[in-house]
Amino acid sequence: MPTCDLCGRELEKLLRAEIEGTELAVCGECGKHGTILGKVKKKVSIVVPKKKTIIREEIEERVVVDFSDMIRRVREKKGWNQEEFAKFLNEKWSVVQKWESNSLTPELNVARRLERVLRVDLVERVKEEKIDLKGIKSGEMTMADLITVRKRKF
Ligand SMILES: [Zn+2]
Repeated sequence: MPTCDLCGRELEKLLRAEIEGTELAVCGECGKHGTILGKVKKKVSIVVPKKKTIIREEIEERVVVDFSDMIRRVREKKGWNQEEFAKFLNEKWSVVQKWESNSLTPELNVARRLERVLRVDLVERVKEEKIDLKGIKSGEMTMADLITVRKRKF
């Protein structure tokens, strides 16, 4: 927020005024002590979003959020208990218990293996776009300088 050169008040809009031979940016109150020349040009930085440029796309893989539910449903469908299921998957019983209670999420490679063995989707592929920031140009716009010359006499 610009401040008045004389009293230091913060104001959105300041006036250009000639006070005792010096041109200052002042508030309306201080402007009364001199000659108002016009409004202070306000420069506004604007961001012009251009068409985004995608540099590259990346496919990120991650274990599905509802992994524990998925795996339990598969096991129940096959009518196995956790121990049998663990044996089938060549995993420890305790690990399967943790998976199902959602206290452990398997590593990606493990999830991929389970995906193949159980024929269910346990890994999701998320597409990530890398966007070229150079495609977004920041410009400077000068607001119309509304010159209102008002000469006051005191
Ligand atoms: Zn002032």
